[in-house]
Amino acid sequence: MTFKTLDDLPEDIAGKRALVRVDLNVPMADGLVTDKTRLTRIAPTIEELSAKGAKVILLAHFGRPKGKEVEEMSLRPVALALEEVLDHRVDFGSNCIGDIALKEVEEMASGDVVLLENTRFHAGEENNDPEFTKQLAINGDIYVNDAFSAAHRAHASTEGLAHLLPAYAGRTMQAELEALNSALGNPTRPLGAVVGGAKVSTKIDLLENLVSKIDVLIIGGGMANTFIAANGAQMGASLQEADMHDKARAIMAEAAKNDCRIILPIDGRVTTEFAANAPVEIVDFDENTKLRDEQMSLDAGDKAIKNVIAEFEQLNTLIWNGPFGVFEMPPFDTATMATAKAAAELTKTGRLVSVAGGGDTVSALNQAGVADDFTYISTAGGAFLEWMEGKELPGVKALG
Ligand code: AMP
Repeated sequence: MTFKTLDDLPEDIAGKRALVRVDLNVPMADGLVTDKTRLTRIAPTIEELSAKGAKVILLAHFGRPKGKEVEEMSLRPVALALEEVLDHRVDFGSNCIGDIALKEVEEMASGDVVLLENTRFHAGEENNDPEFTKQLAINGDIYVNDAFSAAHRAHASTEGLAHLLPAYAGRTMQAELEALNSALGNPTRPLGAVVGGAKVSTKIDLLENLVSKIDVLIIGGGMANTFIAANGAQMGASLQEADMHDKARAIMAEAAKNDCRIILPIDGRVTTEFAANAPVEIVDFDENTKLRDEQMSLDAGDKAIKNVIAEFEQLNTLIWNGPFGVFEMPPFDTATMATAKAAAELTKTGRLVSVAGGGDTVSALNQAGVADDFTYISTAGGAFLEWMEGKELPGVKALG
């Protein structure tokens, strides 16, 4: 994977117009930004370009306006929040193309920062329409993509622009790609992955890709129930997908062919009530397990937790997506919390490189209080999963 970074910028960047694609899909309530994490993440790229004297023109989408102007999806309030994070004036242009954008950019001085309106107000953005891309490109001398989280989409501002202007990865994009590459592209083995969460059907591509690349696949959550049932167990009212048993068996066979061990929970926290603090019984799992019709497994059990931690201790690199159980509801957060803490501890003592990503995974690790202790946490949900699935991300490819 080769791409240019801000280290490769031309010497004479001062006064040049840098079109910078960023992720401004921040949570908002009552017209105010409620979480500024994403703004903090893009600050280094903006500040570096501005300090070098470039005119920084920010492009981003917000929500799904489907090619129409939708007032509630305007980026105007985000410009104000960004101003606070950057401690630098951020002007706003109420259209990302046409006369308004042109005028806004013409009036910029070296080091200025302007945010242009939601790119998705134009259908050409999602269609990657060459005409629309040209209209964006006339406002830039170079293109910087700092939005890894949008890199799985081949849209005008995430992919098309890279073909029209000299293209560079921003600092956040660079950090993300370097972390992901050290975890799956060029890992220190043994390499293991945790794949948990609700359903096998939504993570088939992921499982199929991983078993040919990694040494140990640790399966948790509702997905594990499907695998255990595919081996012959009766899982009662547990979340599991009967129509995925053949797939699960095929994945196990493929893993065996590739010398990838699959670790399933050897016991589970079983209850008859899908509720917080419901009474729990720990039940051993194997192919002969027969849960009663009303019983369901909502988390891995204590032996399974010990087993998973012992596996972690043998690894040098760990990739993580998906919880071991219904972590939103105690005590079914037990396995996710205990294993996350163990992975964090191994990382802190330098024995493990740990990379995690995906929406639920990030909130589970935050809940365990260990998000800062992992080597890298990707907040890019869809892009992270597609990367884990081994898919080429168009926004990244175009930078190469
Ligand atoms: P995913 O989006 O596929 O990563 O799934 C995350 C969701 O899976 C979380 O909301 C968990 O509550 C849910 N989950 C994990 N384990 C189980 C389980 N054993 N039964 C039902 N839901 C589960």
